[in-house]
Amino acid sequence: MRTTKWMFTVALLVSISATAQQAAESQSGSHNAVQSNPAVPTSAPPAPGYPDISPSRPEQQQSGATAPSSQQAMSQQPTSQQPTSSQTQQQAASQATMPAPAPSTLPQPTTMDQVVDRFIEREHGLMKALATRTPVVETYLQNLTADPQLGPVPSADHYFLGRMDMGETVDRKDYLKEQEKGMETRLMGGFNKLFKVQYQPLGFSWMVYADRTDFDRSHYDFHYIRREFLGDVRCLVFDVTPKKNSGKGRFLGRVWVEDQDYNIVRLNGTYVPAPRNSYFFHMDSWRLNLIPGYWVPAYIYSEEGDFSAGVKNKMAFKAQTRIWGYDLKKDGKDDELTQIRVDSVKDESAAVQDASPLQAERQWQQQAEDNVIERLTQAGLLAPEGDVDHILQTVVNNLEVTNNIDLPRPVRTRVLLTAPLETFSVGNTIVISRGLIDVLPDEASLAAVLSHELAHIVLGHNLGSKYAFNDRMLFSDDSTYANLGFKHIPEEETAADKKAIDLLNNSPYAQKLDNVGLFFKALQARAPQLNALLTTHLGNPLAEAGTVNRLTALATKGPALDNAKLDQVAALPLGGRVKINPWDDKAEMVKTAPVAITSARDKMPFEVTPFFPRLARWGASTAAATPTTASNAPSSN
Ligand SMILES: [Zn+2]
Repeated sequence: MRTTKWMFTVALLVSISATAQQAAESQSGSHNAVQSNPAVPTSAPPAPGYPDISPSRPEQQQSGATAPSSQQAMSQQPTSQQPTSSQTQQQAASQATMPAPAPSTLPQPTTMDQVVDRFIEREHGLMKALATRTPVVETYLQNLTADPQLGPVPSADHYFLGRMDMGETVDRKDYLKEQEKGMETRLMGGFNKLFKVQYQPLGFSWMVYADRTDFDRSHYDFHYIRREFLGDVRCLVFDVTPKKNSGKGRFLGRVWVEDQDYNIVRLNGTYVPAPRNSYFFHMDSWRLNLIPGYWVPAYIYSEEGDFSAGVKNKMAFKAQTRIWGYDLKKDGKDDELTQIRVDSVKDESAAVQDASPLQAERQWQQQAEDNVIERLTQAGLLAPEGDVDHILQTVVNNLEVTNNIDLPRPVRTRVLLTAPLETFSVGNTIVISRGLIDVLPDEASLAAVLSHELAHIVLGHNLGSKYAFNDRMLFSDDSTYANLGFKHIPEEETAADKKAIDLLNNSPYAQKLDNVGLFFKALQARAPQLNALLTTHLGNPLAEAGTVNRLTALATKGPALDNAKLDQVAALPLGGRVKINPWDDKAEMVKTAPVAITSARDKMPFEVTPFFPRLARWGASTAAATPTTASNAPSSN
């Protein structure tokens, strides 16, 4: 049950200044670097012929693509691999479905040549181990344009979401079939004439492996470079170059190989040569040791463009690809028959009789709510209940307590795993997307977006009771968006916004609504360029046609948006708050020290940034990833 007094969730309040979280992570692993390796790839001269469609372009760009890590260190010892008892417990649950680690048939390497043989063997082992998996793949891309004050800023954006079959070919079934068609058409219109470039969704997931079919010594040369730490993990670094005439689309770049089992943990580079009239992007691909013996592909960052003087920058973009849902059922045919869980409706009245009409109506709605939440979780779109929910529920509780709201059932919260900024509610469950939590600057702003959904619940704007019929849960995962939807009519939206303002004014957040106003101003400033990020798939959008339409009364509050004011943080970059475990989809708050903003360019509101996960070995990883916020969650229930 809910607590009787309101509280701030400390984690969110202190992180108001923690904008550049990923940068913080990338720095924190640095120890007594033995080798200095100046990271100055940006000063590389613009590649001649960059805007052409010359197939050799990727090679010319290569010099700038392998940005050396700032984390190299040689003195640090790998952390202990002994899991604690609580970690063991956590891991036991999903362990049943993990592939068993395959022992190497090769001897423990004593030479670099043997290391190469070993990681080639491990790479093929990984492909085999993951061959039955169909994880969710999300790519979010921002086209860039130069702003004199802010540097490269988004000019447009694109979004792809699908399931990737890790089997025979890297292929994706797209959740967004209809929209994707439109997106591809638009891209063709925009770029085809210049480059014949398409942002194929497939393209961004290619780099889960260096080379699917021919990763071996007859197609590639391997050159050992040095040792280097990535996070807690000591790695051997190799440059990989395709042999002459070894075929099209071969990997060219660098791999980082951990030095215990010799698995590749990071790949950085591109593919050469490109087929005629097409183009391979540069990518930086990271893997995580989420199951014993294997490092599974998790994040891929891609970037193109050069903003130095005199360069005609016809194509520039940044894109993040995230992979999760490895543990989802591949063949969902049987599982599509969603089980109805009615535990929590079990006779709270203690009456041994039929439900009254009102009780029956409420039970019906809860049945629908449970069906939907379970179905979304099965499809890999919703995180299982976890630590982030404790924070969200504390904020909702603060709004409820100070407004004397007493609902027949407690309000629950869940995290939608995707990037587009959205909230919706199903029955008494409020759902908020990972991307939206990421960009919110403070707890008051989080309270504001949650208050709109709480208002729907308080006003009885119940949606989706039709989902109490189980036949309506029988659809394939990739048609989830076509089968579920929780959009309200405009009258309900207006009423919910009005009620939300009342709730906020009576809440502990009333004094902090100036910050919330700034967030909505920042959102409005970027909304025309971020159509894909603001396109919702299940709930009502925060903005339509480039205009913010959620809680518009708040946008007049607070000071004017001023990029030059470094202490004014109106919205954060994507990816800084919520971290998803790609194996079991659990969400947790990112734990990072605040990083000082030193220029307007550091703010990067709503923007995509590179990935720099702090790598750790299996067993050690759960300890390192334990969110500090867990202890701040409400415990007084
Ligand atoms: Zn609404």
